[in-house]
Amino acid sequence: MRKNSAWRYALDMRPSAFDLLFNPRLNKGLCFTEAERENYGLLGLLPDAIETAETLLQRARLHLSQKPNDLERYIYLSELQDRNERAFYQLLRSDPPQYMPIVYTPTVGEACQKFGHILRRPKGLYCSIRHRGRLDDLLRNWQNREVRFICVTDGERILGLGDLGVCGMGIPVGKLTLYAAVGGVPPESCLPVILDVGTDNQQFLMDPLYPGIREPRVRGADFDSFVEEFVQSVQKVFPQAAIQFEDFHNTTAIPLLARYRDRVCCFNDDIQGTAATAVAGLFGACRMIGNRLCDHRLLFLGGGSAAVGIAELIELQMQREGLSASEARARIWMHNSSGLCVQSNPRLSAHQVPYVKEAPLQKDFADSVAFVRPTAIIGASTVPKSFNERVIRAMSVINERPVIFPLSNPTSKSECSAEEAYQWSDGRAIFASGSPFPPVRFGGKLFVPGQGNNVYIFPAVGLAVFATIATRVTDAMFLKAAETLASRVTQGDLDVGLVYPPLRTILESEIAVAVEVAKLIFAEGFARVAEPEDIDAFVRSKVYDPAFIEMA
Ligand code: NAD
Repeated sequence: MRKNSAWRYALDMRPSAFDLLFNPRLNKGLCFTEAERENYGLLGLLPDAIETAETLLQRARLHLSQKPNDLERYIYLSELQDRNERAFYQLLRSDPPQYMPIVYTPTVGEACQKFGHILRRPKGLYCSIRHRGRLDDLLRNWQNREVRFICVTDGERILGLGDLGVCGMGIPVGKLTLYAAVGGVPPESCLPVILDVGTDNQQFLMDPLYPGIREPRVRGADFDSFVEEFVQSVQKVFPQAAIQFEDFHNTTAIPLLARYRDRVCCFNDDIQGTAATAVAGLFGACRMIGNRLCDHRLLFLGGGSAAVGIAELIELQMQREGLSASEARARIWMHNSSGLCVQSNPRLSAHQVPYVKEAPLQKDFADSVAFVRPTAIIGASTVPKSFNERVIRAMSVINERPVIFPLSNPTSKSECSAEEAYQWSDGRAIFASGSPFPPVRFGGKLFVPGQGNNVYIFPAVGLAVFATIATRVTDAMFLKAAETLASRVTQGDLDVGLVYPPLRTILESEIAVAVEVAKLIFAEGFARVAEPEDIDAFVRSKVYDPAFIEMA
């Protein structure tokens, strides 16, 4: 155990025994030392054994192994977070590939769907539209004045699961957990928020256990003014906080980002974080193939927030590689729910217009593949199994190394599985998916599918913004994050099919990405702290360490 001044940060005054046992930020379970038990009145309140952190984690692992399914493991971990926060983060850091799928996708999807039923202690801040005009007060009710990161959703597009209303709170909670677990942003500086504006989910409206406003979703000008009040209240109450917009429907997500990105420190992870993740994966694919992004022709299935965000960042990178804006756009195609995005497509959204081509309408995705002859297909459609055998076989006829990225979450929404991609391409696919898939043995070779999940990016951008107290988050920062992430992929990773660094080393990757993004923040004049001589050491000094702290 180490002594740390952060201990003072957690405390305004000398804690009582009750504080130590029941404040999750202070609790150490049986790891309180003899002296601590003596000095803080804990004698008799704990069994005799004085445990090491490892013993405590061993017990947590035992409990987890006895749970019958991942949802029960999610509930257990959520309660551990409520009981002993440092133990929770030590456990997560001890094995990210094992615990991330439980605290985040795919399990968090099921946890949100059943949120009203599994609810124990509510986490985060619930901003109900019934309290419109009083959001300053609600934010001030949060116990910590030093909030630096807010992840906010209105619950309308939770993963690929649709409108889950207030039950979408699981997403900001999960995202901020990952900020701390793999990004090193201190958990006390993070605040999950839900804007409860009702829901159009009929099942929830009928469910007596639904814990939100039981009315149809508020839309239009009323919704916009509520978000405006929220953003202004954040500026007032937590002036140094960055706002991450999360899992809004694309009809609100894209305009919200446009409205606020140049006004306040904010970003939309579904748009910008996803984009950086996908571009990093494409950089890896380019290394495997031996070409550049500007040599590719990309076809998206889906034309929502994720697809448009990825397309815009690809466009930016292709221009850096020497193409004009129109040449770059000519290489990016989209196929939405009505078919290929061409002028005769009857359902084009405003955000798809830049990618609309003059070409015949193809209604079936496999026909679009045959027509466009893409080098890469990227799934952001929420339509499971839409990268079917015909699609992947067609991609494998067109390309020696077809790039197949089914990014939709959770697993049940994935456009194809890793096994399908490797099998139907005879082991030639370059594959990455939004939700994790186990390794696949095909033709005597072991393939390790990469997880193209924005968890590789947002915690790192978060750490950089946290360390520098940035005033803005820009697309250039996301491109820098993508480049740095891609540069951490080794030849050994590429050899087994991985276009992302392995998840077990994710903390190191995030810190390396954060350092490069922080350098850009300083270079572009967006930092609110003086530039240190050694930015690497500076960022590392801000990384949250969940080890137990010895009390004086
Ligand atoms: P969105 O609702 O904005 O977009 C979905 C798009 O799919 C829409 O354009 C819709 O028209 C289109 N679509 C629906 N049915 C279709 C069909 N039959 N054929 C073609 N297109 C169809 O959602 P989004 O934010 O873009 O997210 C899409 C998916 O990507 C979700 O499953 C989400 O979880 C996932 N996602 C993954 C990551 C990641 O890190 N891997 C990040 C963000 C989003």
